Amino acid sequence: MGKSLNTSRQDFPILEQLVNDEPLVYLDNAATTQKPQAVIDQIVSYYQHDNANVHRGVHTLAERATAQYEAARVKVQQFINAASSAEIVFTKGTTQSLNWIAGSFGPTVVQAGDEIVISYMEHHSNLVPWQQLAKKTGAKLRYIDLLPDGQLDLDAAKQVIGPRTKIVSLAHASNVLGVVNPVKTIAALVHVQGGYMVVDGAQAVPHMPVDVQALDADFYAFSGHKMLGPTGIGVLYGKQALLEQLSPVEYGGEMIDFVGLQESTFKELPWRLEGGTPNIAGAIGLGAAIDYLNQIGMTNIQAHEQALVAEALPALQAIDGLTIYGPQEASQRTGVIAFNLDNLHPHDLATALDMEGVAVRAGHHCAQPLMQWLNVAATARASFYLYNTSEDVQALVAAIQAAKEFFQ
Ligand code: PLP
Repeated sequence: MGKSLNTSRQDFPILEQLVNDEPLVYLDNAATTQKPQAVIDQIVSYYQHDNANVHRGVHTLAERATAQYEAARVKVQQFINAASSAEIVFTKGTTQSLNWIAGSFGPTVVQAGDEIVISYMEHHSNLVPWQQLAKKTGAKLRYIDLLPDGQLDLDAAKQVIGPRTKIVSLAHASNVLGVVNPVKTIAALVHVQGGYMVVDGAQAVPHMPVDVQALDADFYAFSGHKMLGPTGIGVLYGKQALLEQLSPVEYGGEMIDFVGLQESTFKELPWRLEGGTPNIAGAIGLGAAIDYLNQIGMTNIQAHEQALVAEALPALQAIDGLTIYGPQEASQRTGVIAFNLDNLHPHDLATALDMEGVAVRAGHHCAQPLMQWLNVAATARASFYLYNTSEDVQALVAAIQAAKEFFQ
């Protein structure tokens, strides 16, 4: 049975509260998302009935825990259309996934004089690990420029990606500009050069249908907490042949096959890469989040957020002195809108909105090079998810207008 977006808000108990005497309007979904009762119940049920360590025991609880943990892996596989569940490695989140690729796969393909390519819009998690890899190997870190409206400049990409390019790593969707990058096109450009395509999917997987095979991504990273799941669980997808090349970052329990005094052998994928007791409840919670998202349908979620942006954008554009970063056309955007109000620091703006119960983020959004590119120190940012409504958009616009009148 499909679930209706119209009633989905009721599934999120946290949204039913007053903040500063106003109904909570939660618009910080790019930072983290709220959890439906179904996800909370699944985690509680696991701890109440099935808690045990996975893969080790033969007793009933261990078998149940293992079955649920591995079922969650299959849900992730199907959700992003990976070819096999062996290609799904559970991590702490996007940051850990990207660090593993840069730290473990990176040195096997990047040498001094090679080039690693990213863009100016990257989150620090998809920037600092590559800086470190470049430093360690003597490779050069190069940046693809953006068009004036914040979209990736494809001509610039064609110029920057060349025979020395070993890795291109890009956000699938920006956490500031609200743009979606043409991953498939860029993947083709880097593959022609014999390099690899890494994708930071933290802001894409929660908001749109993603098919890693259709994108031809070599690696793809995302976080559970940004898609209704718990914190501390995320995913590293990799094409099987490439994951085989990846040395485990952590050695120890769970990932070994046989341990001798001087030599050890390791399990096969994906367990070889999951050293130590994993975040079992987290993976099971992520599986429940995927069930919930599937009941509504990713296409419906994307269309819903699109409708909210189509309503919000013109209303925000009509506010005198408000600058919106990224494309000005709703059809070219995801549900992330970064903005500044003239003569008001974004932290003051966010504090004023909080007084009205409206939760937005203010700061550099872990994208300092992008802030430099935009020539600002920081911005405020509203970001939508499936439980947001037209009333939330109206509350945001009214709260910004009230702040403007108060401060100016
Ligand atoms: N990449 C992007 C585009 C993000 O928006 C975020 C989170 O804000 C991350 C990476 C890092 O995600 P996490 O902190 O869950 O590892």
